[in-house]
Amino acid sequence: MAKKKISDVCAWCGREGSVAQGRYLVPSPLDGDLMICTDCAETIHAMMAEQQEQQPKRSASSFARQMTGKVPTPAEIKDFLDGYVIGQDVAKKYLSVAVYNHYKRLLQPETADDVDIEKSNIIIVGPTGTGKTLLARTIARLLEVPFTIVDATVLTQAGYVGEDIESLLTRLLQAADYDVEKAQRGIVFIDEIDKIARKGDNPSITRDVSGEGVQQGLLKLLEGSIVNVPPQGGRKHPEQRMIPVDTKNILFICGGAFEGIEQKIAHRMNQHVVGYNTDNQRIHFDDKHEYLRYVAPQDLRSYGLIPEIIGRLPILVHLDPLDREALLRVLTQPRNAIVRQYQKLFKIDNVELTFAPEVFDFIVDKAIEYKLGARGLRSIVEAIMVDAMYEVPSMNVKKFEVTLDYARQKFEAAHFEAAATEA
Ligand code: ADP
Repeated sequence: MAKKKISDVCAWCGREGSVAQGRYLVPSPLDGDLMICTDCAETIHAMMAEQQEQQPKRSASSFARQMTGKVPTPAEIKDFLDGYVIGQDVAKKYLSVAVYNHYKRLLQPETADDVDIEKSNIIIVGPTGTGKTLLARTIARLLEVPFTIVDATVLTQAGYVGEDIESLLTRLLQAADYDVEKAQRGIVFIDEIDKIARKGDNPSITRDVSGEGVQQGLLKLLEGSIVNVPPQGGRKHPEQRMIPVDTKNILFICGGAFEGIEQKIAHRMNQHVVGYNTDNQRIHFDDKHEYLRYVAPQDLRSYGLIPEIIGRLPILVHLDPLDREALLRVLTQPRNAIVRQYQKLFKIDNVELTFAPEVFDFIVDKAIEYKLGARGLRSIVEAIMVDAMYEVPSMNVKKFEVTLDYARQKFEAAHFEAAATEA
């Protein structure tokens, strides 16, 4: 009873939400019952803006400021990642250290000493839908820096059809509202880096415009240099004035599924098994994903990344596939878990949305059945919820419960099967 009361009013001003007055209650991501109203949020925002204007600009992100100017420790960073990303503990640990060091680089005053901390770009290897983009996005959220995602497959060597490599900095500039200084501390996530692997083992194959050529082009960005960036991107505006962007402090995070890399890893691991009883010592995993745990830079090389690129991506982490239990957690646990997002949408209309626990099992079963992994969870929930989202706003109800029967019925009516196979 008492709990419900809390959720009906703003924890700051004590007022209820009011559609007529344009005041909505927004739940805390930590406790769905704790509300803040949009009026109070706006007041706080205005106060902060005022304060920030009075303060001299600082290069540290506001997360660092919140930590009273102290760089958050790797454990604190991992804690933050835990709030958004399920599992992937090994990767999170490496990434936390990388981000910690990135912080220190950003906060470091320009000094004349000889020790220059080099940035540590990251490469994440893991099956699709296991959290590569999510990790990169969460890091950007933590650092509060501009962030952009670029698909490596659209990049081509300059002069060929496709996007020039500099275009990824155009997107970062756009994400930073053309504030060059901000962009220079941003994060670029290059997805599907495996798709620009060299075709074939023969390095002398020339004119590999979408493979090695792109890797060569990426090199100068990754290693840190001043790049002239077309602010509008593309080649359609040849008259545009280029903006020089220094990539020295831009963190590049690359991700790829590297399908089939397990064979390269297995091959390498078994090559080193020497001596008697070789047969018994052969390393073999029934689940091919187990090999990923042992991924090493030389496997990326056998896969077709050029050594120079690998050298510029010193932090190599792998992600594990998500099992049933992990998928269940993805659905409900992260701060912006899919279920919470729908609850928030309903809350804006002052409707409390609940799910019978079996519904979550049903959703996960369907994601597994259709081999959609975490990526499919949202579309399954959407298929179940679309009718409710259509009808509830005009129903004048305070509560809406999704039961297993309801979920099953809506899911079947959505003809998801056909949609999933088409996708
Ligand atoms: P990819 O590895 O292909 O980049 P994404 O990070 O884009 O995968 O994840 C796809 C979807 O699945 C996103 O909606 C994301 O929120 C969810 N997801 C994937 N992995 C996780 C995870 N480990 N924890 C929480 N959500 C996840």
